Amino acid sequence: MSKSVIIVGAGLAGCLLAVYLARAGWNVDLRERRGDPRAQGNIAGRSINLAISARGLKALRRAGLEETILKDAIRMPGRMIHSRSRNLAFQNYSSDPSHAIQSVSRSALNLALLNAAAAESRVTITFQQRCVHLDAARGSVSFIDDNTSQESSVSAALIVGADGAYSALRGIMQKNEGFDYDQSWLSHGYKEMCIPAVTSGKYAPFAMEPKALHIWPRGGSMMIALPNLDGSFTCTLFWPNKSTATNANGFDSIRDPATARAHFEREYSDALAVMPTFDNDFAKNPVGAMLTIRCQPWSMHGRAVLLGDAAHAIVPFFGQGANASFEDCESLTDALAAHPNDIARALAAYENDRKRNADAIAEMALTNFIEMRDKTASRLFRLRKKFEHFLHGVVPQFYTPRYDMVSFATIPYADALARSRKQDLVLTVAAIAAPLLLIAFALVAWKLSR
Ligand SMILES: Cc1cc2nc3c(=O)[nH]c(=O)nc-3n(C[C@H](O)[C@H](O)[C@H](O)COP(=O)(O)OP(=O)(O)OC[C@H]3O[C@@H](n4cnc5c(N)ncnc54)[C@H](O)[C@@H]3O)c2cc1C
Repeated sequence: MSKSVIIVGAGLAGCLLAVYLARAGWNVDLRERRGDPRAQGNIAGRSINLAISARGLKALRRAGLEETILKDAIRMPGRMIHSRSRNLAFQNYSSDPSHAIQSVSRSALNLALLNAAAAESRVTITFQQRCVHLDAARGSVSFIDDNTSQESSVSAALIVGADGAYSALRGIMQKNEGFDYDQSWLSHGYKEMCIPAVTSGKYAPFAMEPKALHIWPRGGSMMIALPNLDGSFTCTLFWPNKSTATNANGFDSIRDPATARAHFEREYSDALAVMPTFDNDFAKNPVGAMLTIRCQPWSMHGRAVLLGDAAHAIVPFFGQGANASFEDCESLTDALAAHPNDIARALAAYENDRKRNADAIAEMALTNFIEMRDKTASRLFRLRKKFEHFLHGVVPQFYTPRYDMVSFATIPYADALARSRKQDLVLTVAAIAAPLLLIAFALVAWKLSR
């Protein structure tokens, strides 16, 4: 069997997969729609970051990249909650102080992965190649070269669609009978803002505590901020797209910098004080959409397969989209190694391993939005988190909080979801039963004393 593969999309997952497969003896043809980010100018611009945790780090370690990435990462061992009245409350993510998620630059991560792929002699990378057609039965795929507008077709034993949430490859597969597709848009959008570096202050060059993921929970809306190595923070507003009777502060109502500034003075005043480029950022940065995509089967004719966001785009509230996509790369590589002469079987084994986990993290990511925007501000919630950390500290074999299982362990997402549901049930039953038992005990004691 020829070990040739075309990977569509040189994003985070496509580049990592290229490294893995080249090292496993595959000849990799990696094609990307955009221009080469190594060309001057493309990697400059605003810092945009993402959180990488245990799963992503494990996958990067396998490619020998963990140290390179961690060197320029910022540890975030907990979240810093900002109230309207400018009070701060720090909540650890875990009872284990060595646990932290890592804020890394998205472009630096993509560049490190691209360089690692380019360093492999079995990998060729071509840019400005837009995938437009797939003939899965023949194992061929067509691209338009955006420099010349010429269309050409290439074929290989395996074709991988790592072309992101709006995957062209998936779009083509979708037209085939038997391909199930479900897409749900979040009613909230997101807009990125910036808190630049400062020259003085307690945390200079940072305007606030750098070792935390900052959250301004405001019920139906929130803002978060992650630190960048240059001392700035990338802030993201998550607001409803449309105002409602219960939340009048949607992107449709707050459209211009003056209205946004007035809103910030009420809701996020401590942040506004350190946002000198507020008006420009608000006017210039677009409102992005967020969606969950579930589809199946992920492969077609035993030759074309989806991976990463192309197979399972999720909302970003657990910081797991890239982490999950990196796990896909490990799973697909392992499945191909386990079935060296049968790609169709390998693709089925990969989907069997990953689909249930993709569905589980999609669900947990949606739930985490409610936790972040509504619950993190509540005293009761914080008390519960403290109790969960206490339990985890004393009986880790019986109780591990969901956040720990998802972010600081590599147990399958589906198992983390199932186990956390059981634990929640036990805690709820215990919370109801404990006062009843106390009352019963007091009654018995009272009876006996008469
Ligand atoms: C606001 C936000 C915050 C996030 N924060 C986090 C976080 O903190 N932690 C985390 O783990 N994840 C996070 N994510 C999710 C993460 O960005 C994605 O899960 C991850 O980028 C998926 O990697 P991918 O390689 O599958 O897709 P992408 O990174 O999107 O790469 C796809 C590549 O395919 C190329 N492409 C597209 N169409 C074509 C075509 N027709 N032909 C050829 N090439 C094509 C694209 O140009 C791109 O380079 C966040 C997402 C959002 C939106």
